[in-house]
Amino acid sequence: MKQWIAGGIMLLVLGMYGTVFAGGRKESKVPPSGAVSKPKTQAVSENVFTYTVGDYEVSLLVENRSQGNPSILIGADEEMLKKYLPNGTYATEVNTFLIRTPELNILVDTGFGATLFQNMQTLGVKPEEVDAVLLTHMHGDHIGGLQRDGKPLFPGAAVYLSEQEKAYWIDTDPATVPEQQQRSFISARAALEPYGESVVVFTPGTTGASSGELFPGITAIAAFGHTPGHTAYMVNSGGERLLIWGDLVHAMEIQIPVPDVSISFDTDPVMAAASRKAILEYVSANRIPVAGMHLVYPAIGTIAAVSEGSYQFTPAE
Ligand SMILES: [Zn+2]
Repeated sequence: MKQWIAGGIMLLVLGMYGTVFAGGRKESKVPPSGAVSKPKTQAVSENVFTYTVGDYEVSLLVENRSQGNPSILIGADEEMLKKYLPNGTYATEVNTFLIRTPELNILVDTGFGATLFQNMQTLGVKPEEVDAVLLTHMHGDHIGGLQRDGKPLFPGAAVYLSEQEKAYWIDTDPATVPEQQQRSFISARAALEPYGESVVVFTPGTTGASSGELFPGITAIAAFGHTPGHTAYMVNSGGERLLIWGDLVHAMEIQIPVPDVSISFDTDPVMAAASRKAILEYVSANRIPVAGMHLVYPAIGTIAAVSEGSYQFTPAE
């Protein structure tokens, strides 16, 4: 009997210790020695790929896949086209990314709002559980999932955009822009309207600077040119980083080896190329993995310089 009681107390003590230990582990997120650590990357489905950045998880959500038309490329001569796009086309996607921190669900862009909600469901995240939507810019393939019929599709979220982007799309009277552009300005206004007071306007920082932090470990970085306020987002957790670079690159097969090539959708193609070159140099020199809205699955990987001003992308596995 005595022995039984002693054994019971032992179990109780072990049980308490186990609880305390599990609590501590949850807080520090450091797996106990001997435990199987989570893989860095995980292909969840053909449209969802998850990448670990310290304590955060960043998931690629593919909205759309297509073949791009080289006629939109600016600054690509015959020789380059033959070398980098021998089939006369390039693979491209429309992507969004979901950042999950221990406290927050943060969506970066909303794509067209096509397969976004289905992809989020795969990860077990409901639209009302999204705390913030960070916009890289206000083109239709990035803001299409914000609202339907004037109702916010992320009712619990604040929407973040740079002051330069707001000035261009929202503070401009659509009646004053060329007729073929008016629809884009009207839909940019319609996308933000349902969020009312929950729209947050910020000043992006620059690469290597500490300004522009929106959430712990999430920093906005100016990458102007594709649009006047085009913004990249640096995710930084546990000593690891990932730069979600938005539309810095549309045709990866040619614009990564030849960053001078811009596209006709760039508001300022020269500035877009300058941003692309500066960021490619920065991420390759600092070995910072990147993620892109028009890179192809898994759309997350590393950039290395292959020669002066020319780079190559290696996808995360
Ligand atoms: Zn885009």
